[in-house]
Amino acid sequence: MKINTYEISALIKAQIKEYRHKVASHNVGNVISVGDGIAHIYGLDKAMLGELLLFPNDVYGMVMNLNADSVGAVLLGNDSLVKEGDLVNRTEMVMEVPVGETLLGRVVNALGQPIDGVGEIKFERRRPIEVIAPGVMKRKSVDTPLETGITMIDALTPIGRGQRELIIGDRQTGKTALAIDTIINQRGKNVICIYVAIGQKNSTVAQIVDKLKRYKAMDYTIVVSASASEAAPLQYIAPYAGVAMAEEFMHQGKDVLIVYDDLSKHAVSYRALSLLLKRSPGREAYPGDVFYLHSRLLERACKLAPEYGGGSITALPIVETQSGDISAYIPTNVISITDGQIFLQTDLFNAGQRPAIDSGLSVSRVGGDAQFTAMKQVSRSLKIELASYLEMKSFAQFGSDLDASTLAVLRHGEALMSVLKQNQYQVYQLDKQVFDLYAAKNKYLDFVDKNQIRTKLDEAYAVFKAVHQDVLDNINKNKIISQEDEMILKQELKIFFESGR
Ligand code: ATP
Ligand code: MG
Repeated sequence: MKINTYEISALIKAQIKEYRHKVASHNVGNVISVGDGIAHIYGLDKAMLGELLLFPNDVYGMVMNLNADSVGAVLLGNDSLVKEGDLVNRTEMVMEVPVGETLLGRVVNALGQPIDGVGEIKFERRRPIEVIAPGVMKRKSVDTPLETGITMIDALTPIGRGQRELIIGDRQTGKTALAIDTIINQRGKNVICIYVAIGQKNSTVAQIVDKLKRYKAMDYTIVVSASASEAAPLQYIAPYAGVAMAEEFMHQGKDVLIVYDDLSKHAVSYRALSLLLKRSPGREAYPGDVFYLHSRLLERACKLAPEYGGGSITALPIVETQSGDISAYIPTNVISITDGQIFLQTDLFNAGQRPAIDSGLSVSRVGGDAQFTAMKQVSRSLKIELASYLEMKSFAQFGSDLDASTLAVLRHGEALMSVLKQNQYQVYQLDKQVFDLYAAKNKYLDFVDKNQIRTKLDEAYAVFKAVHQDVLDNINKNKIISQEDEMILKQELKIFFESGR
C-alpha cells in the first residue's frame, strides 16, 4: 500500500491528537482512504479476517484484507459517513445476524434488520454468519423427500431433505418460479423456508413476497433481500446471513429449505469487492477464491444425524446462464458443488413447455434414494420414454411416412410432455401426481387430443376423487400404490378414457 507524504503527515497529526486517549494502537486505526464501500485502514495490526470494525457514525465494516501495513474492510453501511483520517475501532466480534422464530413472516436485509415496515423484530439469539459446515460424522444420508409439488421434478429429479439442487437456466426461463412454487408447496409439511434475494429489483422482491402472502406461505418463510440498489458488501453477505438463520432451525431438529436467488449475481458482487480491494483478477476477472465463496456456503446444507437432532437444510441455489452456456466459470463451479441440477431451456419455454425443464440435462444424484415408492412406481421408465421420444422427434422431422411403431412413440411422448406441463403457483400433491403419471404411463392419454390432455386428466381425477377418495388417501398416507388400489385405478381410468373414445 503506497502512502504519500501528505497522508503520512495527516495520519501522524491525527495520531498525535489521539495520543491522549492512551488506547492500544493495535485496537485502533485510521482510515487512509474510503470509497465504493471499501475502506483502507492504517493500524489495527491485530485485526482478524472477518472481524467487525466500528467506524464513526455507527457504521460497521468487515475485515476482508490483511496487508503488511494496512487492513482492507468492506463497509456495511453508508460509506459517505466515513472520512479519511477517521478513527476505527476493533470490536473483536465476527458478523452475526438475529435468528429464531420471530423472523418468520418477515422481510429483512442482509444484516437481519426488518425492511417490511411492520416494526421491530424481537429476537433472543444471534448467530455468526460464517461457521464451519458440519463434518462427515455429524451427517446422515438423505432419506426423506422434499416434495416440490412440481410433477416433473418430483418424478425425474427428486430432491431429498438435506440435498443441494441447482436450478440453472437463461434469464426469464422460470427459475424463480420453480423455487417459489416449491416454497408454496411446503405448507403443512413442517418445512421452514428462507428465500434469499441477491441483487434483484426491490419491485421483484415485493411481488414475490406478495405472492407468498397470497398463498399463505409467509407464515413459515423468511425473506432476506439485498437488492441491486444496495452496496456490494451487503449482497455478498446476504446468503451467509440466510444460512445462519437456517442453521438455528436445523440445530433445533427442524427441516429448512433455503433458496439463493441467484448466485451469479452473488459472484458478481464478490468480484466487484475483490477488484476494489485490489485482489488479483483471474478467469472472467473473478478472484481465485470464487469457488470457495460458493462451496463454503453450500457445504452448510446437510442432513444431520439423529444424535445431532436430525434437522436438515435443503439448498436450492439458482444460477443464470448466458445463452445456455453451462460451461462458463460460475455455472461449472456450482454444478460441481451441488448434488444435481435442474436445467431450464429457453427453447422449451418459448415452445410453451412450462416448466421448461430439459429432461436430458437435469439430474439428481441423491434424491432418488428419498423418493416415495408410489412415485417410483409411476416414474421408473419416464426418463427413458422421454429420451426416446425426443430422439425420435428430431429424426421424424426429416421423414413424412413414418411407420406405426414410430408414430406410437411420438404420440406417447407428446402425451407425456403434456402431462408434465404445469402452471405457475399450481402445485400438486402426491396423489394427483401419481394419478396423472399412472394415466400417462399406461397410455390412456395417447389418443386424447394434445390440447385437451390437462382438462381431461383433471376431469378424470375429479370423477375418481368423488368415488374413490380412500384410494387417494391411501397413496398420500402410505406413499405406495397397493395392488388393490392399482386395480381400482386401472378400472376407473379404462372406463373414463376408453368408453368416451
Ligand atoms: P430472471 O432471469 O429474470 O430471474 P427467471 O428465470 O427467474 O427470470 P421467472 O421470473 O420465474 O424466470 O419466470 C419468467 C416468466 O415466466 C414469469 O412471467 C413467469 O410468470 C412465467 N412462468 C414461469 N413459470 C411458468 C409456468 N410454469 N407456467 C406459466 N408461466 C410461467
Ligand atoms: Mg428470477
